[in-house]
Formats: sequence, structure tokens, C-alpha cells
Amino acid sequence: MPFHLPAELAQQPTPFYYYDLALLDQTLAALTAAARPGNFQVHYALKANFNLPLLQRIRAAGLGADCVSGGEVQRALEAGFAPDHVVFAGVGKSDAEINRALAADIFCFNAESVPELQVLNELAAAQGRTARVALRINPNVDAHTHAYITTGLEANKFGISLQDLAGVIDSLDSLPHVELIGLHAHIGSQITNLTVFAELSRKLNELQTWLEGRGHRLPHLNVGGGLGIDYHAPDEHLIPDFAAYFGMFEQHLQRRPGQQVHVELGRAVVAQCGTLVSRVLYVKESQQVRFAILDAGMTELIRPALYGSHHHIQNLSSQGPFLPYDVVGPICESSDTFAKGVLLPETQRGDLVAIRSAGAYGEVMASGYNLREKAPAVYR
Ligand SMILES: *Cc1c(COP(=O)(O)O)cnc(C)c1O
Repeated sequence: MPFHLPAELAQQPTPFYYYDLALLDQTLAALTAAARPGNFQVHYALKANFNLPLLQRIRAAGLGADCVSGGEVQRALEAGFAPDHVVFAGVGKSDAEINRALAADIFCFNAESVPELQVLNELAAAQGRTARVALRINPNVDAHTHAYITTGLEANKFGISLQDLAGVIDSLDSLPHVELIGLHAHIGSQITNLTVFAELSRKLNELQTWLEGRGHRLPHLNVGGGLGIDYHAPDEHLIPDFAAYFGMFEQHLQRRPGQQVHVELGRAVVAQCGTLVSRVLYVKESQQVRFAILDAGMTELIRPALYGSHHHIQNLSSQGPFLPYDVVGPICESSDTFAKGVLLPETQRGDLVAIRSAGAYGEVMASGYNLREKAPAVYR
């Protein structure tokens, strides 16, 4: 189905984020249907988008919440996620964040270092509790994605490296308020080459066998998130191939009887249901370049400036002949560019423009730079 902006939104002041809740529901239905046969537990990664109307639907579909800050833990609880469906990851959890999550009795902390385990033990002891912990390992698997969203290589700050793992396991003996319940890995984002997940599974298999040799049986394995989406042709793949994704773990992960497998998807759940809608302020032509200057910029959607990412851009107002445009925002930075040399139907001041696949890592990264007002969200 080609993209369609509900008619009543054509009069809405721009820029704004438009969320298609019917598409979100269809995506959630496809996801839960694909997860069910293998009994995979899906935790939604809130950092991709934490708007309440989305979270409420995601929770109603039966997903849990994967949080990376105390604010996200609080938001998940406000959105009605049960504490035992909330996990808290992140390389730098503050004492205050840990204390609040302990008090809420969340399901699990994904811990990333020995010093963090020591703090978890101390704070849990002070509250008379035990912190359930999964160790986030750095499996040194290349996700074959953008360097800034690769997280599972030795050079990245995330996780416990394989050389350090034995020492970390030994340290658990002296941490009575920490209970090891699983292993966790998250190797990157926007992963489209699914064989990467086979390699991750093989690493986890080895580690699991090694841990069992040391007397640790793990009730949970958490393979993280990272499933990519089609930014180039969103209408051809509005719903990611969740079955192929789970199939990789079905095939390659050696699951013990009764063992739970968790996945943490963010982007694949919400990216396609969000569109940044903007208007053309000016068309500026020089000898070399034709610029379409939008009223939305990197303050609304920073991904192109931050990662050089591609978003499909459509002029919703024009039927004219196609011409190449550099599509830019109004912000005082040269990196405030959505696309260079993109073919659009002949574009004029006032045309409505859709920047597609903006539901994940879009609105959540908005800033007030240049004293810009926050663009509102509308839901249909
Ligand atoms: C960001 C993140 C995710 C979600 O990643 P996606 O690529 O959006 O699926 C999952 N787990 C952790 C620990 C994360 O930091």
C-alpha cells in the first residue's frame, strides 16, 4: 500500500510526527505470531520511542520493556508494564537509578562490569533485597552495520569481554545480594544480514556450556535486539520478517529444556509506523544544486546528520516531473541535510513532504537546538 496521510492532517501545522497506530498493531500482531511457536519473550526497547500511546499498545500486545535509564524504567511502569516484565540495561547506571529499579522489584538488571555488580550488591543489601542479574557479555561479533550502532566488538564500551568473564563469575561468590539468572548480549542495531545472529548464537552456546561446567545453570538467555528495517523501500517491507529473525535462533541457539529466550527489539517494532511530516519553506537553486529547504531539521530527526542514514522522502503535494534536490533543514549546521541529490517531483514552497520510517530513534532524539519548539506527535 502506498503511503497515505489522513486528509485531516494536511491542515496540521508542520513539522509534526504522524504515527499510524493501525500499522503498529499489525506489526505487533506479526511479531507476536512469529514469537509464539518458539516461545520467545519479547521486551520492547523503549529508547526507540517512548510515547505513551505506542507503549500502551505494545504492552497490550504482551511485550515486556527493555530500559536503559531510570527515566525509561519509570515510563515503562507508568505505561502499565508489570515490574516483572521490565529489564534495565546500560553501561552507566547511577545509584539513584539502581535504587529506584530495585525498589520497584524489576525482573532483571543487565550488568556490564564488576564495579557495577559490586554497587548492585551493596545497594540491594541496603534495601534487604537480591538483584536478579544477567551478565551482558561482549561476544566480539561484528554486526556489519554502521560503526556508531555497532556494540558487540571488543573496541566498544558495552558488555563484559570474554577474557574478563571468568573473573566476573568468580566475583559473584562474594556478592550474595546478586543472583545470576542469565546471559545477555546486544551486538548492534539496524542489522539486515541475519547470519550475524547465527554467529551470536554459537558464541552464546559456547559460553553456556562453559558456565555449566562451572556449575552455573542459566534460566534465561537474552540475545538483545537489532533487527533492521527497510529504509529504502518502506512500502515494500512495512512489516519486518520476524519469522526469519526468530528462525535464526530456533536453528542455532542451543536452548536447554525450560530455558527462556528473551529478545529486545526496538527499531523493528516502531520505525515504520512513524513519519515526520514537514513543509517546504523555500526552493533555492544555484548553478550546481537545487535545495529544498524544509521546516523540519536535525532537531526533529538527527539520524541522517548523526549516522549518515537514509530515509525515504516523498513530496505529497506535487505530481510534476522528477528533478534532483538536496533536501535540507533550517538549522545552522551543514550536517542538517536529510538527503543529497534525491529525485522528487518538481517541488515548490508550501509542498508537504513525508520523511518515512522515522518512528524509531526520531522523536526521542529531538533537541531544542536553535531554541526550536518541540514538534508535536499526532496519532491516527
Ligand atoms: C538499543 C537496545 C536495544 C534495541 O535495539 P534495536 O536495534 O532498536 O532493536 C536492545 N537492547 C539493548 C541493550 C539496547 O541498548
